[in-house]
Amino acid sequence: MNVKNILDFNYNDLKKYLTENIGLEKYRTDQICDWIYKKKIFDFQEMTNLSKTDRDILTENFQISIPYLIKKQVSKVDGTTKYLFELEDGNTVESVLIFYPNRTIACISSQVGCPLKCEFCSTGQSGFIRNLSSGEIIGQLLAIEKDKNLEINNVVYMGMGEPLLNFDNVIRSIEILNDPKMKRLGARHITISTAGIPHKIEELAEYKKEIRLSVSLHAPTNAQRNKIMPVNHKYTIEQVVQACKIYQEKTNKRVTFEYILIKGFNDTKEDALKLADLIGNMKAMVNLIPINENPAGFEKPSKRFIEIFLDTLIKAGIDAVVRAEKGSDILAACGQLRLKKIGVSYK
Ligand code: SF4
Repeated sequence: MNVKNILDFNYNDLKKYLTENIGLEKYRTDQICDWIYKKKIFDFQEMTNLSKTDRDILTENFQISIPYLIKKQVSKVDGTTKYLFELEDGNTVESVLIFYPNRTIACISSQVGCPLKCEFCSTGQSGFIRNLSSGEIIGQLLAIEKDKNLEINNVVYMGMGEPLLNFDNVIRSIEILNDPKMKRLGARHITISTAGIPHKIEELAEYKKEIRLSVSLHAPTNAQRNKIMPVNHKYTIEQVVQACKIYQEKTNKRVTFEYILIKGFNDTKEDALKLADLIGNMKAMVNLIPINENPAGFEKPSKRFIEIFLDTLIKAGIDAVVRAEKGSDILAACGQLRLKKIGVSYK
């Protein structure tokens, strides 16, 4: 029998399957979702308000595929926790849990590896293996919630992989996250972080949920961006920004731009002015991220350069902040635990 991962089902499909294919009564769908998404019970036999017959039918037809926790690192500085999970086929992905005073953010992966090969990214160095199913995306979140015994209230598709290159599964996972009968996470608490795939950004603009969009620019010109983000050879920075403008016109939502600051590469006042020029007529926010340890050996700019960059953007009328460093003692960026597991080293 073809055993399915129940986490791959959105609410309507699950209800239809349970009633039409395996003969459960309709109201059972809500009970099962409650056990999985609220109570974090991942064994049908423990769902005590279901009859023994229904529990057995469910066990025969479904599995609840929570990824297996291989390794966990917890920051002594701020509690940031980095997870390495193994999937059913033995592939591994990373997720990160970050704590802020009033919220918890889970950075989850959407692919095993990544095809985009950004120079500064450990995941990009390990190549691309496959897309994650929506259930595998959701499974990371449930595994973290169970591990920490807490409810995560913000999710960012910022782990391993480019979410817009796994569009359908990512959208389905968002439906599951957002559904009031399933994970119950408000759409505004869900962010897609992309390296910038213009036609997919435009497709996302048609999606009628209030999710947030974050786009990694990391350089103000094509010449610079080509050096660190090979995807820029395919989609120029102007095409990416143009797609963001279309997104903004259609959704009326502010776009966040991520900008990694690299010493001697993209960190001067002139770079800041070029960046302001590029996005100046948009409703945008810039997150400046002084670079962490990375495979290419890039270095973090001095505090003074970071301040000048920030100040220049603000004076040019751009909302910008320097993102607080989290998990500094465990190198919380994604991809590094997995590289250790599969034996890839970097400078
Ligand atoms: S930074 Fe993101 S898009 Fe670039 S290689 Fe890494 S995972 Fe892929």
